Amino acid sequence: MLPNKMFRLSLLLVVFALAGCAVNPVTGRSELAFYEMSEKQEVDIGQKAFPKAIQQMHGEFRDPALQAYVNAVGKRLAAVSHRPQLPYHFAVVNDSSPNAFAMPGGAIAITRGLLVGIGNEAQLAAVLGHEIGHVTARHAAQGIQRETLLSLGMIVLGEAAGGYGALARQGGQLAATLIENSYSREQESEADRLGIDYMVRAGYNPLGSVQLQEFLLKQSGEQNPAWLAGLFRTHPFSRERMEANQAYIQSRYPTTLHDPHYTLDPEHFHSATAGLRKSAKAYALYDEGREAEQRKDLNGAIALYRQAVQMAPDQALLHAALGNALLRQDKEAEARTHLERAVALDGNYFESRLELGYVLSQERAWGAAIRELTRSMELMPTLQGAYLLAGAHEQGGDPRRAVALYRQVAAADPNGQLGRAAALRARQLGGGP
Ligand code: ZN
Repeated sequence: MLPNKMFRLSLLLVVFALAGCAVNPVTGRSELAFYEMSEKQEVDIGQKAFPKAIQQMHGEFRDPALQAYVNAVGKRLAAVSHRPQLPYHFAVVNDSSPNAFAMPGGAIAITRGLLVGIGNEAQLAAVLGHEIGHVTARHAAQGIQRETLLSLGMIVLGEAAGGYGALARQGGQLAATLIENSYSREQESEADRLGIDYMVRAGYNPLGSVQLQEFLLKQSGEQNPAWLAGLFRTHPFSRERMEANQAYIQSRYPTTLHDPHYTLDPEHFHSATAGLRKSAKAYALYDEGREAEQRKDLNGAIALYRQAVQMAPDQALLHAALGNALLRQDKEAEARTHLERAVALDGNYFESRLELGYVLSQERAWGAAIRELTRSMELMPTLQGAYLLAGAHEQGGDPRRAVALYRQVAAADPNGQLGRAAALRARQLGGGP
């Protein structure tokens, strides 16, 4: 029943999409849009996809004072932008790769990896101002118009059908596309100029933007793989771009550079990011551990994670990484300790909950497993989570729920291992074809 309904809805969207003309809020020119998205739709899509995007970037960095600080800087810029009425929200995500991204409608994130490389508030304003520029010039919305119409259809339907919809395909896909959304050179330059305008209007010294871009140029010269895979892939960078921005500042705002009313504000920035910098060494070990895991050196990774946890025992993600690696060595008791710690420190990250749910299932603690897995699925619907949850319901005495979930896994992953196993289990439990 679900697939039919989904097909009809997608078709409807495609028909809607055939023509449309929206006025660009920055240029005032009308633009031929593949799909005419209203401001409300922009906001809806961004707000729907943003929590999933945060999950994919390892959750929020747990430092409420830092989150509030970054939000305040972002809102100060947004207030003087071309679209001050949007419900802007700024988050620091716990990802090591240096990056920043904007969703349509004003949901914007900066990674721990980028924030730790920045030196003052004006540089932070340069990053956030640039991302706000992508939002106000509708670059973020254009990306979605080009690429993700179909997922949009799926999102709308998933909501209408209730439950977990088409699971991972749906929850993650739109968010992933929006994170990966890469911009053209022209869009990058436009966002740079808009970011500089917003900085100056908000009282920041545009020197911050020059400093930031000199820092970026140095990183791009070093061909650092983390940068190439992060910021530079989605926001192409070059010496020409930097020089164009410097020329723009010189011609447009020549006096601001030496005017003390336009601030760089390193002091505020340093006190707000003290916690972030304090845990930086532990996260460097964590990054090494992830590389070791990629080389299949599980013992090496565990040793590095142990060091990281010892150095920063309050960081949930470090416990989660250690717990996950221990699980893969079948050290369940110790894994459980660290996964429980991870959930206690940060209950809003799906992966810790998912893995703790797995451990509890192994222990046949069905009630507790259902609790963890349900929360994990609310945060981020995944095939693994749905399959484990189905198993927990089956064993925990609710075969009806189990069959419904098995069917969803089977529908979302018809040719995969989990999907086929789920289809078989649904049949065995008497749940239809
Ligand atoms: Zn950009």
